[in-house]
Amino acid sequence: MEKNKEMLLKGLPIAPGLVIGKALIWRHKRIEPNRRFVSEGEREKELFNFHRTREIMLKDLENLKKNLPSRITQFIDFQIAILSDTDFLKDVEYYIKERGRTAEYAVYQSLDDKVDELKKSGIEYYNDRAKELETLYFDFVNYLRNEEKRKVRGKDVVLFADDITIEESIRIVNSDVKAVVLKEGGKTSHAAIILRDYKIPAVFGVGDFSQKVEDGSTVIINGWKGEVIVNPQSTTIERFKSLLDKYKEEAKGLSEMKDLPAITTDGRDITLMANIDLPQEIDLVLSEGAHGIGLFRTELLFYEYGDDEKKQEEIYKDICEKVYPFPCIIRAFDLGGDKVIKGYREKNPFLGLRGIRLLLEEEEQFRKQIRSVLHANTKGNVKFMVPMVTTSWEVKKTRAIFLEEAKKLSETEDIHIPEFGIMVEVPSIALTIENIASYIDFVSIGTNDLTQYTLAVDRRNSKVSYLFQHTHPSVLKLIKKIAEAGKKYGFRVGVCGEISSDPVGIILLIGLGVSELSLTPSLILETKKLIRKLSIQEVESLANKALLLSDGEEVNVLIMEFLKEKSPEIVEKYGHF
Ligand code: PEP
Ligand code: MG
Repeated sequence: MEKNKEMLLKGLPIAPGLVIGKALIWRHKRIEPNRRFVSEGEREKELFNFHRTREIMLKDLENLKKNLPSRITQFIDFQIAILSDTDFLKDVEYYIKERGRTAEYAVYQSLDDKVDELKKSGIEYYNDRAKELETLYFDFVNYLRNEEKRKVRGKDVVLFADDITIEESIRIVNSDVKAVVLKEGGKTSHAAIILRDYKIPAVFGVGDFSQKVEDGSTVIINGWKGEVIVNPQSTTIERFKSLLDKYKEEAKGLSEMKDLPAITTDGRDITLMANIDLPQEIDLVLSEGAHGIGLFRTELLFYEYGDDEKKQEEIYKDICEKVYPFPCIIRAFDLGGDKVIKGYREKNPFLGLRGIRLLLEEEEQFRKQIRSVLHANTKGNVKFMVPMVTTSWEVKKTRAIFLEEAKKLSETEDIHIPEFGIMVEVPSIALTIENIASYIDFVSIGTNDLTQYTLAVDRRNSKVSYLFQHTHPSVLKLIKKIAEAGKKYGFRVGVCGEISSDPVGIILLIGLGVSELSLTPSLILETKKLIRKLSIQEVESLANKALLLSDGEEVNVLIMEFLKEKSPEIVEKYGHF
């Protein structure tokens, strides 16, 4: 590693924003315990270090849990339980006092004994617990070893890791981490979406950084461009500080957009709604002036309340009433894929039992969710949508179940039946949409999956991220087909994939005839500002040109050229194309 040399790491722009902070390397590689023997005189100190670290960790874990649904925090509870377990404490004391080992070796050995036992069982549940124990060991040593690291915590922490899970991203948004940099990861992975929702600037896919960044290094993260500057010189820091001030000023100016309509210069009204992943995001949705929720992802609620019909109803009702008079589109559980549920581990989960396929397999659970959505529609603004539809048969079957539940309830109660819609995320349903037009009230195009399945490219894999192009003409053609079918057959068409949070995508979508966009709440005002500069005539002509190009890169260049004139500040910010 060249000490203190300024260096640029290029990656994928995941979540916008600028941060200047200190690097914290997270579980980058397996940490070997310090195996040395300690003298009798040192043992008390080792024991003291162990207990002090344990207390700090327990306090941090408890703080982390606040405001999070308990099933999401299961793994935190598990860590707390182990750290408080008397057998574990006895084992650690034994290794330090009787066997003369360091605190970190004592923790390693005590946990390792348990890991071995669990792994021997060969049962998947215990294998998962074994992995969590290994994580606990890494976390413990990270806490124990590096005073410097804890000093870094609480300031402007930029977390560097190989990859993170959805649960870890939730942990991050509830911690003091200001930005995230990952070796791996794709633009539309669910971890990425959560960071974006919570305005945590992020850059993924920077490759192996182990020889370039170390704990405590000063780093600058540019989440718009997907750039990380390690060890910036003072002139670079000054330049970024003034950019930061400029962006802060711009953000203040955006607030005046809140009460203005999202309307093109020639009078086309565009509806801007928000995507949410957790109920807590509703405050952001309201403060940014979204005209509804275009996608309420319910998977994270499933972990907590999948079986609790009443609780689900309460949550849906609360969110939908808050967003009234605007609509609230609740999406049925889209489990499978990277949202694994226990018992359904598959070799190729993105092509397996995912979304509607799993819901039909677990029909009773699905019916519970349907009933809670029906009950939540007290104000009449709720809509119900099913994910990952491949065939007409699934739509007909799902709608029949939905109406059957509605009929049963309406025999004893006064209910409003929500509109019924589907997500278009699989090319087969996009190409045969006419067949189900009379069964649906609306569709929402999920371009994250539609791109993944059209271009055969894993949305989470940074190795093939150059192929993940939601502006690829093949994807645009499918969107156009759906927009036209919507007009012809009378169902509404919205788009809720990440393309709606991309200025290039927004121009294309409007040009292709879409007038309902659902996006990351934090980008609504910026998007409105852009829309108010566009005319339908010019975006239609751009979209028609884009359809004739050969890949997403060419399309991006075409639209960026247009933006240079229209909105140079966007080109300056996002100018990575
Ligand atoms: C999509 O696929 O575009 C979408 C919005 O759904 P998700 O990202 O939750 O898969
Ligand atoms: Mg999807």
